[in-house]
Parts: sequence; C-alpha cells; structure tokens
Amino acid sequence: MPRRPRDANPSIAADASQKRQAARIAGLLLPWYDRHHRSLPWRANPGQPKTDPYRVWLSEIMLQQTTVATVGPYFARFLARWPALTALADAPQEDVLAEWAGLGYYARARNLHACARVLRDQHGGRFPDTVEALLELPGIGAYTAAAIAAIAFDRPAAVMDGNVERVLARLFAVREPLPAAKPILRVLAKAATPTERPGDYAQAMMDLGATVCSPGEPDCLLCPLNSLCAARKLGIAASLPAKAPKPERPRRHTLAFLLLRPDGAMLFRRRPEKGLLGGMLEVPSAPWRDTPWQLDEALAHAPLDRITWQERPASAEHVFTHFALSIRAVEARIDARQAAKLDGNWLPPGEAAVPTAIKKMLRLRSL
Ligand code: SF4
Repeated sequence: MPRRPRDANPSIAADASQKRQAARIAGLLLPWYDRHHRSLPWRANPGQPKTDPYRVWLSEIMLQQTTVATVGPYFARFLARWPALTALADAPQEDVLAEWAGLGYYARARNLHACARVLRDQHGGRFPDTVEALLELPGIGAYTAAAIAAIAFDRPAAVMDGNVERVLARLFAVREPLPAAKPILRVLAKAATPTERPGDYAQAMMDLGATVCSPGEPDCLLCPLNSLCAARKLGIAASLPAKAPKPERPRRHTLAFLLLRPDGAMLFRRRPEKGLLGGMLEVPSAPWRDTPWQLDEALAHAPLDRITWQERPASAEHVFTHFALSIRAVEARIDARQAAKLDGNWLPPGEAAVPTAIKKMLRLRSL
C-alpha cells in the first residue's frame, strides 16, 4: 500500500483541489458570461466600470420573490423619481410605498426607505463595501449583502439565490432536498467563488441558472460547465435540486366593504405600520380569520351601519407566502353627508396605490 508522504496535509490538499475546481469553473463560466450575459438595466456590462451600488441594491431588493420582467418597470419608475440614494431617503415613506404598490412583500419597501435614511444619516450617503458592514443595514440580509459586495464592489462574496442554488446542486450532484441542503450549498458556493472577477462570476452564475440551467429540463448542451457537471454525468440533472414537500397553506377569510360616495370616490384606510401590508392603503374589511364569515356577523365590522349593503356574487382569492385569503365583498353608495362623518381616505378606486390583494377586492365591485 503506498504510504502518504510525511508532510502531506489532507486539509491543504483539499483546499488546493477546491481552488483548482474553482479556477476550472470560473475559467469556463466567465468567457461564456462575456458572450451571453443578460443585459439588465441595473447592470454594467462585462469590463465596464462597476455598477452603482444604489442600482444593485434597489434591483436586488425588488427582485426578491419577483421576476426580472415584473421588476423592470418598477425599477425604471423608482430611478426616474429618485435618481440617487439621498433623493429616496428624503422622500416621504407613503410615496415610496405607493410607488412599490403591486410588488408585494411591503416590509421590503419600508426597510428600503429606512436603509436609505441610515445611509444618508450615518454613512454620508454611500454604501459600505463589505458584507459585514452591509449586513448591519435595515432590510439587507446575507444574500443582498453578498450581491452588493460582489456586483458593486467586486468582493469575492458567495452570492446564492434560487438560480445559483440550482446550478450548484446540479454541478456537484447534491441530492439532499432543499431547504436542508442550503448549508452544503453555501459551503460549495464559497469554495467555488474565484478571487478574479468575483462580481462577474456572481452574475454569470445567476444568468446561467436563469437561462440555461433552468428549472425542469436544463439545456446542458449549451452549458459552459457541462464537462464538469456531476448531475449531468449521472443523468439526474432535471430532478435536482430536490425539494422537501411543502405543507399545505392555511386559508383565511374576509369580507371587504366597498363604500362609495356620489362622486365615485371610495373609502380607503391605511393599515397599521407593523405587520402584513404594513402602512399600505386598504378598503375596510372584516378581520382575516380561519373560518368563513356569515354575512350578518361580518356586517358587524362594517365602517357604517344602518345602510343597505349589496353582496357581490363573485369572490376572489389572494395567495400570500404563508396563507391563502378568500375574499367576498359587499358594496354600498352613501351620500356626501354620511361620508363626511367617516375617518379614512376617499379616493377614486382606479387611482389608489394599493397592494394586489386589495386590487382583487376592488375588482369585485359593480358600482
Ligand atoms: Fe446545469 Fe446541465 Fe450545466 Fe449541469 S450541465 S450545470 S445541469 S445546465
């Protein structure tokens, strides 16, 4: 049996082989990125000066849970209205929430605004350039900190979103289901991140996952990493990453009150700052609870009693991350004298900047 040389150190050997593998991956991926990168409004093209961290941050916060196609118009509107970080910091929070309406996960918009203010007040309006310092800021978690550090400052930070998770799970044939596989994938991501052009590498991994190593059947023939890919060799690429079955979403129920003035304005109110859809406009509604409402008991929560509410025949559903909401609605028209007694905002329903769940309530009206 061959003997190990006296000075051989397994951890150094492992480290060296990881470095070689990282160099192989980057050596194949970066030339592919130079030719096939996606052109995105928040991105500098390969070889250009690094992207403005404000743009990277804004786009990454918007892209959480949302697609590139959806984010495009929002990103353009935000930049047109607030071209620099300090302009966003100086804006009233309700303007930022109104511009965000429809993107969902409204805590992100509140944190975005809070973060802009911290950067303006405590960092001279500039982003710090390390993962550790970025993590101290409101609304910036591990993924966003790594993305800003890598893409805007070319730091070798391991960036891991859903696309990158998929590429890594396949490249290294990680069969452990998500989310339990995340720690393994983080180690692999770190080991694979090169010190040369780490920002382009991070974006290349994202692009590969978005365009070639896509969910379902990947396009391995077009993949620059196919010679290194373990899942491809094993014929299991389409089945990775494995996912643990999701528990069924609980369901909640509400009844919306669509109340109109003679001029067509509808009654809205603002939700509490904290919690789901915090700070956003909504129409009054019965509490969102686990059991369906009987009409009579739901009417006890109406903004005005002793008027005739018409029940709408259609219903709607909105799916939040942790539950689905079943929506029914009633509507009524009142005179200007009655309306003047109610607290809230009277707005034309088509002009109110409301989240998607509330838009679905508005669509149930006939008046
Ligand atoms: Fe994904 Fe196929 Fe490329 Fe492997 S070879 S990384 S499965 S596209």
